[in-house]
Amino acid sequence: MFSRLKLYSLYLSLFCLAILASCSPKGPYAVTNKVYKDKTKGYVAAIQREAPDSLRDSTGGMIPSAWVGTVNFGIRKPNFVIIHFTAQDSLQQTLKTFTITSTQVSAHYVIAKSGKVVRMVNDYLRANHAGAGRWGSVTDMNSCSIGIEIDNNGNEPFTGAQINSLLALLAQLKKNYNIPTANFIGHEDFAPKRKPDPGPFFPWKTLAQHGFGYWSDDILELPPDNFDYAIALRLIGYDTSDINAAIVAFKRHFVQTDVSRQLTQLDLNVLYNVYGKYCKF
Ligand SMILES: [Zn+2]
Repeated sequence: MFSRLKLYSLYLSLFCLAILASCSPKGPYAVTNKVYKDKTKGYVAAIQREAPDSLRDSTGGMIPSAWVGTVNFGIRKPNFVIIHFTAQDSLQQTLKTFTITSTQVSAHYVIAKSGKVVRMVNDYLRANHAGAGRWGSVTDMNSCSIGIEIDNNGNEPFTGAQINSLLALLAQLKKNYNIPTANFIGHEDFAPKRKPDPGPFFPWKTLAQHGFGYWSDDILELPPDNFDYAIALRLIGYDTSDINAAIVAFKRHFVQTDVSRQLTQLDLNVLYNVYGKYCKF
């Protein structure tokens, strides 16, 4: 009798465990991970679509079209890296922000203060990190870039572990996608009217020493008398439709000790030097 009871309670425990296992999600992001998987399946279908869009000429007549698959093609690669700070207080808060639909924002990678790298979107897909802005003639930066968010509230230094992880990640991205040195920039550079990140605490000099973005030389020349700072900013890539915003963005990135709207002689020397690197003279 006793053993039958024991067996019964064992079956009951197993039954309860089975119910629990089937109900409890596998970790806190099980639901959003499933949404991610389902969305990627939708994009696979879009990639596999073969028939061209129908075209009409100026009289409204249908232009003949056909599909013939080539055998020589690949997948498009990102060509820029945009660096951000999260402006949030913790990694958990950022992961939450990027896993709810109401925010409509995301990034390919988030780097925790510990140096842990969290990947949230495959490199070949488009994350919503750059938004409206302009760099050179690129306006849809999300379509051609990798977005990296660094856990930082905007008013504190970045941790050594974060920068070490970032350098390793950038090296991998640069190698995998052959991203030019000039194309490692900040959100502040792409959207000077809207965004201050990653701000003056960010170690751009260290990045430049490793081949990610540029930094001015130690010895600076005076620019020539006819040097036009607005044209130089525009040729580097800045949106100069609001020249004060462009100056502040440039100083956040390349001067860092002072981010006012004034261009001092030192700022002009730095600008002339950096302009030479971007425009290769
Ligand atoms: Zn940003």
